[in-house]
Amino acid sequence: MSLKMMCVVAHPDDECFAFGGALALAAARGVETYVLCLTDGQAATNRGASESGAALGAIRRAEFAASCGVLGVRHHELLDYQDGRLEFTNFSQAAGRLVERIRRFRPDVVITFGGDGGLNTHADHMIVSMLTTAAYHWAGRAKRYPDLAQPHQARRLFHLSTSYFLPERQPPQPVPWTVTLDIRTVQSQKTEAFRQHVSQAPLMEKTKDTFERYGGYEHYALVATAEPQPARLTTNLFEGL
Ligand SMILES: [Zn+2]
Repeated sequence: MSLKMMCVVAHPDDECFAFGGALALAAARGVETYVLCLTDGQAATNRGASESGAALGAIRRAEFAASCGVLGVRHHELLDYQDGRLEFTNFSQAAGRLVERIRRFRPDVVITFGGDGGLNTHADHMIVSMLTTAAYHWAGRAKRYPDLAQPHQARRLFHLSTSYFLPERQPPQPVPWTVTLDIRTVQSQKTEAFRQHVSQAPLMEKTKDTFERYGGYEHYALVATAEPQPARLTTNLFEGL
């Protein structure tokens, strides 16, 4: 049976600018991938030609689907949480929706943001990290959400880290990485996925130099595992699976 990886993000475009390399590499080696995005990005600074939040949301849903297609993502889903407001969401309810999806998809590996919120320290990214971390652990426990499908304990949880910061931004405090992913073989795919987010083109322009300089690698930290072990440096999210 092929391995499965689930990636949980906050906004359309997180899947490519943050996790695009990991997703494309996984797809290339036959791993079944699933991206779950919690909001449709209605609060974005860059609004394209849209005249309302709902219109922008619809545009960004389509862009998200196109980007997932480029990254070889097998399943993608967008929930209806409000962009920019995740910290005010009921934690237990939102985690329950993630638990349900983990139990249905039954991933081996789960990846998400770190508690720092990624390069732009977005509060939605922080909350996604915390919700996904709780859901990762709770999905395997029969006593948690007993009415939501059969428990499933995924075997590895990784948080996104970084080896660089964005210029002119107050830097995050990233979790120290344990995985260095060489994504150079799929880097053009990652860029192509980003290009599908036409409404976010100004953001792409702004981050172009940084990604050209550092974009050959993504960094992740192993933060939970099914077997007790010391931290080890690796170049593979699926080592030992
Ligand atoms: Zn985001």
